[in-house]
Amino acid sequence: MQAFDYDLFVIGGGSGGVRAARMAAQRGARVALAEVAAMGGTCVNLGCIPKKLYSYAAHFAESFEQSHGFGWIGEAPTLDWEALKGNRAREISRLNGIYMQLLKSAGVQIIENWATLAGKHAVDVGGQRFSARHILLATGGKPSVPDIPGREHAITSNEIFDLSPFPQRLLIVGGGYIACEFASIFNGLGAKVTQLYRGAQVLRGFDGDVRSFISSEMVKAGVTLHLNTDLTAIERAGDCLHVRLRDGSLLSVDAVLYATGRVPMTDGLGLETAGVTRSKAGAIEVNERYQTSTPSIYAIGDVTARIQLTPVALGEAMVVADHLFGPAAGKKPRSMSYDFIPTAVFTHPNIGTVGYSEADAAEKFGKISVYRSDFKALKHTLSGSTERTLMKLVVDDTTDRVVGLHMVGPDAGEIVQGFAVALKAGATKAVFDGTVGIHPTVAEEFVTMREPISR
Ligand code: NDP
Repeated sequence: MQAFDYDLFVIGGGSGGVRAARMAAQRGARVALAEVAAMGGTCVNLGCIPKKLYSYAAHFAESFEQSHGFGWIGEAPTLDWEALKGNRAREISRLNGIYMQLLKSAGVQIIENWATLAGKHAVDVGGQRFSARHILLATGGKPSVPDIPGREHAITSNEIFDLSPFPQRLLIVGGGYIACEFASIFNGLGAKVTQLYRGAQVLRGFDGDVRSFISSEMVKAGVTLHLNTDLTAIERAGDCLHVRLRDGSLLSVDAVLYATGRVPMTDGLGLETAGVTRSKAGAIEVNERYQTSTPSIYAIGDVTARIQLTPVALGEAMVVADHLFGPAAGKKPRSMSYDFIPTAVFTHPNIGTVGYSEADAAEKFGKISVYRSDFKALKHTLSGSTERTLMKLVVDDTTDRVVGLHMVGPDAGEIVQGFAVALKAGATKAVFDGTVGIHPTVAEEFVTMREPISR
């Protein structure tokens, strides 16, 4: 039998790579992981975690404002942007260290350098060649900015966290997760935010009511949203940027954030050398076991551009580890299901969603019933805020199964995570109706909606 330096060589130390390396090492495999940047990948360093920390920071603005209705008096504090950046950076370094420690204590050899495939079982890193029985590509993705004049003046989500000085006037291009989240966050932090989206409504793919509801809430909260428009050029004028829009109008801003999607990170990986093929869109193609066109090489997470979510990459990592090195003692090998994956968009208010949109459910199931509630939450009877909450259920009439659950409101992600278990388990509307609510909460509305608004 051929002797390899490692049983598994992982390229990429993001959520998926770290999880796969750790699981494999815990099963006794000899594992190496190469990562050239800080450990933890996009999620820890430039995505989910710092974004959520900034989202918490931004929510304080509305809390200060709303506190007066509850008897608190006095001026709201002001934001120290440098302090927020510093505290975030410190926390991210702590997490980088934890990831390193987790890998080390599992026995994973960490190589802090750029790795390139050198064959079906070979990786070149730092001038050395290593052989491995299996190789896992978990290199993630990177922001993609269209080729517009003045593109060099634009920033992406990679740069936004450390922007200096604080952008008093921020223009955001895009209508997806990242654009909407940062529009809400920077609006909350005190910037004058303008968001441009080329289509008729933000968050394509989400339920239609959710899309219109969140855009109206974001506008109410202070975001200037321009739909059906795009940017044609960016010019620098001293400290500020002049932005030309498709309709010929001109905007002056301090920073332009492009959030127009992410592409798989495959540059310089040596895919051709190892015979690993990519789709037209540039994603690494894999089969149901995450095997690429070269059977000894696997790929998971954003580099495969399936569903770009951290928990999806983690799930895929565990499937690969179980498949290659067997499941944990007493457990069955894991499988990954892409049905009913819940997701949240950390806009203000949050969006939480699981299952089918009304339109997709109508197409898939034919006869459906829709339950919807749009209300002012109890908190806002005193807070002075005009924020409203949307909750919606989509039911397949043939089976009575709840196939879509959507919410726009505070903590929607936290609430929908629990309901996602029910939807995954196949809960029917009768089960929802038979569930006792927790009073007084916003979430109880999901079990008390009795009359469909359409059938
Ligand atoms: P998305 O794919 O969500 O959105 C991209 C947006 O940019 C869309 O509105 C798209 O418009 C628009 N767009 C694309 N190309 C152009 C162009 N050339 N000119 C103008 N507009 C353009 O990507 P994001 O970058 O927001 O996020 C990437 C992924 O990261 C998400 O899909 C999500 O999976 C993940 N993510 C998850 C988060 C979470 O879980 N909370 C948070 C952040 C990211 P159109 O719709 O018309 O194509």
